[in-house]
Amino acid sequence: MNVERLLRTLISPQDVRSFHRRLLRWYRRNGRDLPWRRTRDPYAILVSEFMLQQTQVATVLPYYNEWLRRFPDFSSLALAPESSVLHGWQGLGYYARARNLHALAKIVFRKHGGVLPDKIDNLRALPGLGRYTANAVATFAFDRSVPLVEANIARVMARLFDVRDPIDSTRGRETIWHRALDLLPVRGAAAHNSALMDLGALICTPRAPKCRICPINKFCRAQNPEGLPIKKPRPPPKDLTEAHAFIFHRNRILLEQSSGRWRGLWILPRARSTKGRPVHMSIFPFTNHRITLKIFAHPPPRLRTKAQCWFSSAQLASIPLPSPHRRAVEQLLARATTKALQHLCPSLTSFDMSETKKVAGASWFRRKKN
Ligand code: SF4
Repeated sequence: MNVERLLRTLISPQDVRSFHRRLLRWYRRNGRDLPWRRTRDPYAILVSEFMLQQTQVATVLPYYNEWLRRFPDFSSLALAPESSVLHGWQGLGYYARARNLHALAKIVFRKHGGVLPDKIDNLRALPGLGRYTANAVATFAFDRSVPLVEANIARVMARLFDVRDPIDSTRGRETIWHRALDLLPVRGAAAHNSALMDLGALICTPRAPKCRICPINKFCRAQNPEGLPIKKPRPPPKDLTEAHAFIFHRNRILLEQSSGRWRGLWILPRARSTKGRPVHMSIFPFTNHRITLKIFAHPPPRLRTKAQCWFSSAQLASIPLPSPHRRAVEQLLARATTKALQHLCPSLTSFDMSETKKVAGASWFRRKKN
């Protein structure tokens, strides 16, 4: 451990040892039992880390088990078609992660014989692996003594050391990483990092931190814990409206393969006209946008584009749709008996909802909304 650094942080080596003892004792009694902590399989750990990027543990849990059942190793993922990979990711959002994981699996399969490299530099060279994810895989799969900083640990570090720089500024971010490194033990980094994460998730929570029962409160310098961490003010979300068409004909729905934001996923086609009342309206966030999705019922086009395709009810369950469009289709089909929709899409009345529900009930409609 770097003694100079320790002196700079004003924590003595004895304090650091006591800190580790208290933190680990608490973790052994209170740590979360998560499926990716019961394995040392680098592939499974990598999958969990990709899924956990910007997504909460509770949301990831059902997807993680299902993914490993469907793609149990690098080779099965590398050989899977992209549509199948996106379908497995459907509902988790941030689909760039699924595409990166797929690209990574192909590299590991073709260049590394299906074995994930264990050196940080080699990990960082793979698609989608930034400093955090590479270090997380190195520590949890290969027991490397490297620091980790995700949202929970950043909050704990900012409070523990009373960091006043915004944690999303370059200086604040580096300070937090240095503090995490200062506290890193030579051995047992995986348990130490997991303990800090769980402390942030269960005790040092964003609101109302439980300082009274916190195992490391005697080391904490936060004057006003709830006021930390400091973040740069965010610009308000920009409003955007997107108009799409609900086109139903001969018991099939017309969808279009996206080449934009949801590349590779199937979405409702862009509306040719926005006259009249939309048959569906919803709002969803996307990065720093608040998007209003308006859907208009359209008659079938004379010609469909190359990217468009008709899908039957049974086929809908096995193709990837982004959540806002999936929810819209689900609601529109459920309203199949309304007069307005019947007027514009007369064939809706003959749509076989029982088949949709039967297939969808197994995987599609039941997916967690995200
Ligand atoms: S004492 Fe409070 S603010 Fe400090 S680390 Fe513990 S829970 Fe967080």
